[in-house]
This record gives sequence, structure tokens and C-alpha cells, in this order.
Amino acid sequence: MRRGKRPRWMIDIAQERMDILFSLAEKEFSVNPLRSHRYVELARNISTKYNTKIPLKWRRRYCKNCHKFLQTGKNSNVRLISSEVHIKCHECNHIMKIPYIKEKKAKRRAKLESYLIQERANE
Ligand SMILES: [Zn+2]
Repeated sequence: MRRGKRPRWMIDIAQERMDILFSLAEKEFSVNPLRSHRYVELARNISTKYNTKIPLKWRRRYCKNCHKFLQTGKNSNVRLISSEVHIKCHECNHIMKIPYIKEKKAKRRAKLESYLIQERANE
């Protein structure tokens, strides 16, 4: 297939297929973890082939280093350290670090705005 950006409908189907694969991976993990790792691999193949991102809700559910499916409390743990979400993969001991400073700033801004609105109301 040609390289480059895919049409919208193709991307939609790819997204749906990745979602299905990850759902299966989650269901299968307790019974057959190897199979769920394989599902992640397939989803990643779709992602590269169709040049689309892994769905947002699943992006933290696999290891960026060894590409295995991660189940929090089973083969990974999550810690909040210095404004970052640290997701540790117990398969390869890789730690994924996702900053949450944006959310923190947004919260701060929302607080300030509500304060300003209150100020205005009091005038
Ligand atoms: Zn890993």
C-alpha cells in the first residue's frame, strides 16, 4: 500500500480494530498472558501500517520498551513521582514517565478563574 496519510474511514476502522485487540488482550491476560502480548503486537502493527496512534485509553496499557500488555497490579505498577506518572513494566523493568503538569496547570487556572468570577460577582 502507498505511504502517507490514510483516508478518514480507514483510520476509523484501524482505531476500532486496535480497540478490539486491546479489549481481547485485557480479557485474555489472566488466562493466557502470552496471547495478550501477541494482541498488543498486532495492534501495534495496525498502528504503524495505518499511521495512526493507539487509542488514548489503551496507550498506557502496554510497555513502550518491550511492547507487552500491562495489567496494573499484575505485571506493572503505577506511582506518582514529581508531577509524573511512572508506570513500571515488570517484564523488562522499564519505567514509562508521563508528566501531568498540564493537568496541574489547568486545575490551577480553573481555580484562579473561579476566584475571579467570584470577585466580579461581589462587585
Ligand atoms: Zn517492558
